[in-house]
Amino acid sequence: MIDFHCHLDLYPDPKRVADECRERGVYILSMTTTPTAWQISSRLSQEGDRIRTALGLHPQVAHERHAELSVFDELIGGAHYVGEIGLDGAPEFKNHWAVQVKVFTHILEACRRVGGRIMSIHSRRATKAVLEHLAKHDGAGTPILHWFSGSLRELERAIDLGCWFSVGPAMLRSERGQELAEHMPRDRVLTETDGPFAQADGKSLMPWEAQHAVGLLSTIWGVSADAVESSLRDNLRKLVSSQARETAQPSRVL
Ligand code: MN
Repeated sequence: MIDFHCHLDLYPDPKRVADECRERGVYILSMTTTPTAWQISSRLSQEGDRIRTALGLHPQVAHERHAELSVFDELIGGAHYVGEIGLDGAPEFKNHWAVQVKVFTHILEACRRVGGRIMSIHSRRATKAVLEHLAKHDGAGTPILHWFSGSLRELERAIDLGCWFSVGPAMLRSERGQELAEHMPRDRVLTETDGPFAQADGKSLMPWEAQHAVGLLSTIWGVSADAVESSLRDNLRKLVSSQARETAQPSRVL
């Protein structure tokens, strides 16, 4: 089971959720929304488990937290994963667009300098701009567009740029999400929940509920759930080993 985009540190009882993820053997990539949260949040993972913590600066808080870019720069050398980062073009964040772009650009540049990182990227109402930045910052690493919501044409462009995709139950419930998932390259897809933000039936999704996405993908792709699971596992292995190779990092990886 794989939840490649959730926010462990934002659940009411993060330690309990992390413990349950360990018991259930879930592979987790836990986002942080600010660089200063990364070290504390990293403590939710333990030696030998399957929980990893990404270093991030969320576009929705970029205007309040941009001063933490210096902290980001200090920590990036020791962080194998980056997220949540990106751009948000929704009306309530659009007036902070300039600072969002500054933060995103800075982070892509920092990732490139250290040889590239696996990056979980937010692109709500900003797909075109996110893709333009990724194209400009070739070498920043492997982008995973989380909860992709662009057009089919933008999806094609993202695929050409080498993007991966993480899809969750919330996204796959909508017809539009299903159509996008149908057109995604199956060897570049992972599952996610975006919990605790994303909900099902009024309740925050828990990381192990990424499993619901497997059933949905099985219907969308017209293959068995076992076949979906085996592709997801292969994808995860491939993603992590390619990154370890590129950056020659000692592979404390998944
Ligand atoms: Mn998120």
